[in-house]
Amino acid sequence: MPIRASYAAAVMPAPRSALTVEELPAPKLEAGGVLLDVTYSEVCGTDVHLHHGRLTGVPYPIIPGHVSVGVIAALPAPLNDIEGTPYREGDVVTFLDVHGSCGRCYHCLVTKQTTRCPSRKVYGISYGVRDGLSGGWAQAIWLKPGTHLVRLPPAVSPETFIGGGCGLVTAVHAIERGEVRVGMTVAVLGVGPVGQSAIALAALSGAIRVFAIGDPVSRLDFARRMGATDVIGLDVAPNERTEFVRRATGGHGVDVVVEAAGVPDAVPQALELVRDGGRVVIAGQYTDNGDARIHPHWQINRKHVEIRGCWGSDYSHVHRAVQIAARFGDRVPWSEMIGGRYSLADAGRALSAVERREVTKAVIVP
Ligand SMILES: [Zn+2]
Ligand SMILES: [Zn+2]
Repeated sequence: MPIRASYAAAVMPAPRSALTVEELPAPKLEAGGVLLDVTYSEVCGTDVHLHHGRLTGVPYPIIPGHVSVGVIAALPAPLNDIEGTPYREGDVVTFLDVHGSCGRCYHCLVTKQTTRCPSRKVYGISYGVRDGLSGGWAQAIWLKPGTHLVRLPPAVSPETFIGGGCGLVTAVHAIERGEVRVGMTVAVLGVGPVGQSAIALAALSGAIRVFAIGDPVSRLDFARRMGATDVIGLDVAPNERTEFVRRATGGHGVDVVVEAAGVPDAVPQALELVRDGGRVVIAGQYTDNGDARIHPHWQINRKHVEIRGCWGSDYSHVHRAVQIAARFGDRVPWSEMIGGRYSLADAGRALSAVERREVTKAVIVP
């Protein structure tokens, strides 16, 4: 593919300022890197947080877009996938948005919590315009040497993968942390992109009952299509939601709760819904939304509850998300989660559509 002299990108100059479209020069191609022609890049809840200035260490101006899918436009040197198969120009790929985990620090080596590595950088979040084409809301993104790519198998369309996108990758991690197994009962709090995919993965894991709790009604209807057996709106009072779930589970509560709501009050609610000795995964509190009031005796100690955090993702979650989308994309309507497609010039509109929850998922089509 011919390399152009420059590529258009949607730039977020600073928090709360309007997005602009700028032409950035083509990168200097280095061995080990990949120039990717972007097919789709996701507009994620995190991008709304970026626009509100709620994440620390963001080097504005930035090109947002951390989860993207595209076509390899240039490969300056041979590069293989994890199976040893060479990548070629024209291959459809996605990639782990985290780059530069050091493999040398306490988190990388001792506790193996690579998402806590202080050296990690994220395309579209902690790389900015001064790093060049470093976000997905652009005609091309330069993936630096050491970026972990994942090839999309022919069975998965770019639409299906990006429809799941960041939420699917996060949900793979959350369901893994929840250790959801066949025969279990699960409640998912929140019916945004993470919640919807968590519902689908819980159902695919063999959960016999999956309760979806959230709003609006349109998203609850969609949750049923993703695999929820029961849906409860937020117009139902919290104690009545608990009552409903308890009654439906023989008075016990569910085995696993996945919190994907993002509001702090969802955490005490999760502790009410879980059965004694059950597990709660906190996946929705990605930014600081404040604190919540919990009762340690009744809600944790006496109940023998296990609480697990779930922050960020590693390569395994992206890899599995791609394989899951390829295997189950014909029965889980991930591609239909895309409620709007926007050009680079309309990236600001895409952001406000996600912020106002007019669409579950918006994608940028550069
Ligand atoms: Zn490290
Ligand atoms: Zn995201």
